[in-house]
Amino acid sequence: KPIVAIVGRPNVGKSTLFNQIGKKRVSIVDDMPGVTRDRIYLDAEWLNQHFTMIDTGGIEFDESNHILKSMRQQAQLAMDEADVILFLVDGRSGLTTADEEVARLLRSTKKPVILAVNKIDSPQRAMDVYEFYNLGLGDPIPISASNAMNLGDLLDAIVAAFPKKEEEVKDEDEISIAVIGRPNVGKSSIVNAILGEERVIVSDVPGTTRDAIDTHFTKDGTKFTLIDTAGMRRRGKIDEPVERYSVMRSLRAIDRADVVLMMINAFEGITEQDKKIAGYAHESGKGVVIVVNKWDIYPDKDDKSTLRFTDELRDKLGFLQYAPVLYTSALTGQRVARVTDLVRYVAEQQAMRIKTSVLNELIRDAVSVNPPPMHRGRQLKILFMTQTDICPPKFIIFVNDPELMHFSYLRFIENRLREQFGFEGTPLRLIVRARK
Ligand code: GDP
Repeated sequence: KPIVAIVGRPNVGKSTLFNQIGKKRVSIVDDMPGVTRDRIYLDAEWLNQHFTMIDTGGIEFDESNHILKSMRQQAQLAMDEADVILFLVDGRSGLTTADEEVARLLRSTKKPVILAVNKIDSPQRAMDVYEFYNLGLGDPIPISASNAMNLGDLLDAIVAAFPKKEEEVKDEDEISIAVIGRPNVGKSSIVNAILGEERVIVSDVPGTTRDAIDTHFTKDGTKFTLIDTAGMRRRGKIDEPVERYSVMRSLRAIDRADVVLMMINAFEGITEQDKKIAGYAHESGKGVVIVVNKWDIYPDKDDKSTLRFTDELRDKLGFLQYAPVLYTSALTGQRVARVTDLVRYVAEQQAMRIKTSVLNELIRDAVSVNPPPMHRGRQLKILFMTQTDICPPKFIIFVNDPELMHFSYLRFIENRLREQFGFEGTPLRLIVRARK
C-alpha cells in the first residue's frame, strides 16, 4: 500500500483534512474499536486504491517546539518514507517563510509532491491561491478541509501520483515477519540470533524492493522472510548512531508481513510508546506474537515472574489479548529457537477456516447458554453466521436488526470462537449485518 504523508505548519488544517478524509470521502478500511489514541494514520481507499495516510505533524519529534525545525523534520521524514507527499498550506494566512523553507526541501526530492491550499472556503478566496505558485511545486489545489470542498480533486491527484505497482512476487508458502518495537529493545539482536541458529539456512536474494532489504531463510522446511532487515544484520556496533524509531517504516513492514513480532524490553517494562506500536500491529489485522526480550537481565526473577509480567501485558495492552507471549534473551539465545515455531503456528491460526455448519452450531450453543439481552423491549435474533475471509479471519453474523447487537455480546461470541478453535495470535473481525 502506498503511503501518503501530510506535511504542513501547525494550524494549517492538517488534522481537519485528515479527519475529513477518514470520515467522508473515503471509507476507513479497518477502523476497529478498542484502541483509543490520537490517530496519526489511517488506512483509506479512493477509486479502489488503498493507501495509508499519515499526519506527520502528529508524530512527536523532539522536545523542542521550534516550528521550523520540526517542519524540516516532518519534510525529511516524508521524503524518506512516503510515496506521495501532500504539502498543505494556509490560503488565509498566505505564504510564510516556513512554507518557503519546506518547499525548498521538497523541491529536492524525486517523490511526487502535491501542494494543496487550505481554507479556500468561498469563490472570493480563489485569488489567494496564486501566490503559492511561487513555491515552485506546480499547480496548487485549492481546498477547504472544514467544508470538505474539492477533496475529490485532491484525492484524484494523490491517487494519480502513486508509484506503478511493483511486481512483488510473493511466495505463497513463505511466512513474512515484521520485527517492530522501540529502539534498543533488541530487534537487531533477535534477528541476528534467529539467523544464527543451527538449523537456519539463510538464502539472500539481493536488492528486491526499494530500500527495504529482506532476509529469506528456511528452518525445518518452512520458508520465512524477515522484512526490512536493512541495518539490522550488521548492527550492534556501539559507534553507530541509534536509529530513530520510525513509525512509517514499521507501518510499511507490518503491511507486508504475515506475522508481527512485537518486541518489549523486559528490563524497562511496558511504556506508552509500546502501547502505540502494539496498536498499529493490532489494527493491521496481522498475526501478532509478543516477544519480551532481555529476560536475562530481568531483576529478581522467580517462578511467577512471567505470569506477573504477562498479567501486566494483558492489562496494559488489552487489545492484544489473543497474542501469545514469549520470554527471550537475544543475548544468551534463550527461547530464540521458539520464535519461528510460534510464528508458524500463528500464521496457521490466521489461515484457519471454520465450516458454516460448525459456526451455526456454536451460535446455537452460545445463545442457549447466554441468550442475548433484550434491548428496548426487543430481542436480538441471530440467524446465521459464516466465515468470509482469512488473515485475519472474518465472520459475518446475520441478525434481525444489527442495532440490537450489543458490543459485549459480540465479545462473548468472539470468546466462544476462541475457546473452541483457538485463533491464537490473530485478531478476529466480526461483522453484523441485517438479513435482507
Ligand atoms: P534494536 O534497536 O531494537 O535493534 O536493538 P539492538 O538489537 O541494537 O539492541 C540494543 C542493545 O540491547 C544492544 O546493546 C544489545 O546488545 C542489547 N540486547 C539485545 N537483546 C538483549 C538481551 O536479550 N539481553 C540483554 N542483556 N541485552 C540485549
